[in-house]
Amino acid sequence: MAAQRIVWIAPEAPPKPALGAPCNGCGVCCLLEPCPVGVLLSRRRRGPCVALRWMAAERRYRCGALSVPATVFGWGDGRLGRCLTAWARPLLARWIGAGRGCDCDWTPA
Ligand code: SF4
Ligand code: SF4
Repeated sequence: MAAQRIVWIAPEAPPKPALGAPCNGCGVCCLLEPCPVGVLLSRRRRGPCVALRWMAAERRYRCGALSVPATVFGWGDGRLGRCLTAWARPLLARWIGAGRGCDCDWTPA
């Protein structure tokens, strides 16, 4: 029998789509375990990523490393921070596979 996992997820979050479907921000993948960028930020390999942010107005999760990098990485929103954000965003988007569709094959019960 497969091991069971309990994931605490916002009740308003959208249901997880099928593997390969467009990402809808359900948050399941990042709540299960961090991606490589998230491992560095969270300093762990299992459990929710510290960079994951619930966007109440949008009723979805977003990667904080992409959406609010100045906060997540702590480099502020001054001139240097804005430069770092502009430099890092495309790299981060590539590293986390943003826009490539859902790559999580875990099925919530
Ligand atoms: S995509 Fe972002 S929120 Fe999700 S695990 Fe990676 S760093 Fe964390
Ligand atoms: S990649 Fe899949 S599991 Fe992760 S937030 Fe997007 S839709 Fe949800």
